[in-house]
Amino acid sequence: MTDVTTADTSSDAIATSMKKVVIADHHGFCMGVKRAINIAEETKTRGVENVTILKEIVHNHAVVEKFRKEGIDQKFEVKDIEKGTVIVSAHGVSPHIIRSAKEQGLDVIDATCPLVTRIHDIIDKLDSRDYTILHFGDEHHDETMGVLGHAKDGMMTVIPSLEALMALPDEQPEKLALTTQTTAEASEFDEAEKKAIERWPHIKVFNTICNATNQRQSAIMKLAPEVDMILVVGSTTSANSVRLASMAEALCGKAYLIDSEADIQSEWFNNSPSPIENIGISAGASTPEFLVDGVVERLVEMSGGGAEVVRPVKAKKVNTLALQDDCS
Ligand code: SF4
Repeated sequence: MTDVTTADTSSDAIATSMKKVVIADHHGFCMGVKRAINIAEETKTRGVENVTILKEIVHNHAVVEKFRKEGIDQKFEVKDIEKGTVIVSAHGVSPHIIRSAKEQGLDVIDATCPLVTRIHDIIDKLDSRDYTILHFGDEHHDETMGVLGHAKDGMMTVIPSLEALMALPDEQPEKLALTTQTTAEASEFDEAEKKAIERWPHIKVFNTICNATNQRQSAIMKLAPEVDMILVVGSTTSANSVRLASMAEALCGKAYLIDSEADIQSEWFNNSPSPIENIGISAGASTPEFLVDGVVERLVEMSGGGAEVVRPVKAKKVNTLALQDDCS
């Protein structure tokens, strides 16, 4: 599904069976990503010198590259930043990292998404009341690492799957809570919540999946029965894009995660046992709209210009002009 190999944009890649390209009702940039990008843009516009983004401002290769080209440095560790201003990404970081940055004399600009900060606040409260916390999420994701830093050592366990939850010992403390990564798959978390309550009826559950994630996942579920193939535009570093692509594959049977139109392969059309007539398009919360536009344009071109493009009825136009100018 996510096996994206070398692009084939040759002229024989025409997919004449294609009739429709349907764009998911909810796709692309979410509030937290737009906010983080705006904060980084404003910092640059104010003429602040020696600006470094800690980790990836958002998990999208085009966005990361845009800031790099503009001279905004990127580092993965605070200790590697010598001076100036550090911008914390939308995924947030552990409080000890912000403390270290300040102790090192750096100015800190926090672009953490407010919905991630909400989880930090919930964990802070639970931790101050000595709760043991089970956090449903990807243990290697930046957001999870930041969240982990809000609990005392040994008080939080990251649960990457339903199987991991079921493998936990029956014996659990009276003060027990369940939280989740903002981009977890809603149906998986519902199942985890159900099992956790069955096993530990006293557990306090906090469903911290964000609205943008819920909307994008629901839109994929609505789109899947209408199309023969789904392309999700997003980077492999983006947890929510990867999840959308895996949901799309499970629901539709044929789905690919692509960074841009350059990743579209002619064999997806030419080697398909049944004609690919309708194609669905979605995009992760960190994907700029110009990348979606590029994919749609390429598909229409491959159809020989005849494919109809069905756009979301109530889609708000995302302002990505600055990104488009600099990344395309
Ligand atoms: S996906 Fe949700 S939590 Fe993450 S940055 Fe976007 S709005 Fe915030």
